[in-house]
Amino acid sequence: MIQSHKRRVRHLPADIEQAIGSAIAQAQSILCVSHVAPDGDAIGSLLGMGWILRSLGKNPILALADAPSTDFDYIPGFAGIVGASSVGDDYDLIICLDASSPDRMGAVYRPAAHDRIPLLVIDHHITNTQFGAINWVAPDCAAVCQMLVYLAEALNVPLSGNLAVALLTGLITDTLGFRTSNTDAHVLQAAIRLTEGGARIQEIVARTLQSRTYAGLRLWGASLNGAMLENRVIWAKISLVQRAQAGARNEDGDGLAGLLLSAKEADISATFTERINRAGEVVVECSFRAKPDFDVSQVALAYGGGGHPPAAGCTLNGPLDKVAADVAAALQDARQTQAQPIGQKFSSTLTAGNSTHG
Ligand code: AMP
Ligand code: MN
Ligand code: MN
Repeated sequence: MIQSHKRRVRHLPADIEQAIGSAIAQAQSILCVSHVAPDGDAIGSLLGMGWILRSLGKNPILALADAPSTDFDYIPGFAGIVGASSVGDDYDLIICLDASSPDRMGAVYRPAAHDRIPLLVIDHHITNTQFGAINWVAPDCAAVCQMLVYLAEALNVPLSGNLAVALLTGLITDTLGFRTSNTDAHVLQAAIRLTEGGARIQEIVARTLQSRTYAGLRLWGASLNGAMLENRVIWAKISLVQRAQAGARNEDGDGLAGLLLSAKEADISATFTERINRAGEVVVECSFRAKPDFDVSQVALAYGGGGHPPAAGCTLNGPLDKVAADVAAALQDARQTQAQPIGQKFSSTLTAGNSTHG
C-alpha cells in the first residue's frame, strides 16, 4: 500500500527529497514564512507546512509580514501565525513558501540576522530566482499546496485532518476552483487525496471564492465603471478614494482581474490597485491575468515582479493613472507579439477540417 503511494509521488526529484529530508531531520526550531499580501496558497502552505513539521516532532514558527485576512480563519492553526515583530534571530532552518524572490518575505526575513541560517525555498513560480540553499521550484504545480501533498507523502505524514484542510485551500484558491489552465490530472489527484483525508471542497469554496463583502462588491462596481479595453487587453483601476467611499477592507477588490478576463473581447486583463506602503508612499499593485496561449509573467518580471504565465503581478511607485497607462501599453505590446487572435486560429482550423462547411 505504502509502495503504491510512493509510486504516485511526482515533482519531488530524488536529490531534492533527500536534501529536504535531511535539512528537516537536522532542525528542531524552524521558521516558516510566505509572501507579503498573503493569498490562499501562501496561508494554506504556511499552515500546512506547520502541520507537517509538528507531526514530525518539530517546533515550527509560522510568520507573515502582512496580517492574513480573517477569511482564512477556518484553517486550523490560523490564530498561531505571528507577525514580523515576533520573529527572532535564531532558528535551525528557514522554509520559504510560495515566494519567487527574497523581498516577497517582507519584514519577516532580516538578512543581517538570517542569512547564516539554511534557507529552503519551496515554490511554483516560473520566475523564481532560486535564492535558497535548497531550491525546490516546480512551475508545473498549480499551487505550493500541491507540492506539499507530495512532500507529506514522501515524509510519510498522513494527508488528513488539519493538514488536508490547509492544503486543499491553496489548491482551490490558486486554481480558482480547478478552473485555471494549469489544472491537470495531477492537481485533481492531489485534491482527491485531500478530500479522502476529510477536507471538503464545497466548504472551502464557500469560505474563499464564493465569499465577498457587500462593500467589496460595490468597490468592484465602481472600478468596473471605468474599465478600459484596447487591443484585446482589458484593465481597471481601484483607487484609495474608491476604496474609502465603498467602505471596503484592504483585501476587498482582490480577484477583479479574474472577472475582467471573462471578457470575450480580451486575452489579457489587469487591475491597478492604489495602496499606501509602510513608508507612507503611494504604490500601485498590478495584477495580471491571461487566457491560455498568452503569458503575462514576462511583463511582470520586466517591471520587477513575477508570477506564472496565466497570473502574475508587480508593485510600482505611483501615481495610479500613469502606472495604469504605461503598464496597459506594455501589456498590449506583449499581447501583439504573443499569438494570433484566437478567431483566426479557429477559422484556419475550421477551414482545414470542414471544407463543406458553409
Ligand atoms: P495576484 O494578482 O496578486 O493574485 O498575483 C498573481 C501572481 O503573481 C501570484 O503568483 C503572485 O505571487 C505573483 N505576484 C503578484 N505580485 C507580485 C510582485 N509584486 N512580485 C512578484 N510576484 C508577484
Ligand atoms: Mn501566492
Ligand atoms: Mn501559489
